[in-house]
Amino acid sequence: MKILVAVKRVVDYNVKVRCKTDGSDVDVANVKMSMNPFDEIAVEEAVRLKEAGKASEIVVASLGVKQCEETLRTALAMGADRAIHVETDTELQPLAVAKLLKALADKEQPQLVILGKQAIDDDANQTGQMLAALMNAPQGTFASKVELAGDKVNVTREIDGGLETVSLSLPAIVTTDLRLNEPRYVKLPNIMAAKKKPLDKTTPAELGVDAAPRLKTLKVAEPPVRKAGIKVASVAELVAKLKNEAKVI
Ligand code: AMP
Repeated sequence: MKILVAVKRVVDYNVKVRCKTDGSDVDVANVKMSMNPFDEIAVEEAVRLKEAGKASEIVVASLGVKQCEETLRTALAMGADRAIHVETDTELQPLAVAKLLKALADKEQPQLVILGKQAIDDDANQTGQMLAALMNAPQGTFASKVELAGDKVNVTREIDGGLETVSLSLPAIVTTDLRLNEPRYVKLPNIMAAKKKPLDKTTPAELGVDAAPRLKTLKVAEPPVRKAGIKVASVAELVAKLKNEAKVI
């Protein structure tokens, strides 16, 4: 069984993002970039399924600028077998990504496609759902457990106030939540070995997809600066402040 995993190159989660002075976008110049954390979880899950003998091949795909190759190499070092880079300098919005992944899925015919539940840069939480619609395939989003059982995949989902388990017929789309697994630490020999694994290149035009943005960002702004807190000497003082100053009790 083949698994396709989508991995996005995003600003590293430790970086405090800043806006450009003209408010047109987030400033990513000279900023550390990494694999989207939910996509690391997606790769890890695919590798675990392969290690358990339930999957035969893991193909990872990243869409975007040349440096996405680095993200793909990391995924290969984690244990993926093969990578596909859809190279473009165009800003890719979720619908374009979903269309490109659909084109790759048509070619590769994976039984399972695993994505992150959301990319931590755009926080869209749309691509997996759109891909499922385009592929006319069932989806299990926000997965905290994935179990393959014959021609089905059982996905336990993190929903408000609890867990829900759904059974999907393959081919299916799964998006990962934080508690699905803890991605492995990539060791140096694996990084070296990953350099020799196949990384194919293609473009939106070759895949016959119009990836032009449909939405225009009007403005990007930093959150308002919070006032510094103060220390109070006693519970009585705290209660008095909550009552008389904050007026919340
Ligand atoms: P989003 O809908 O933008 O929050 O992204 C959800 C998921 O879609 C991500 O966690 C990735 O698995 C996948 N994805 C989004 N954009 C890309 C991209 N440019 N390349 C590869 N995968 C992507």
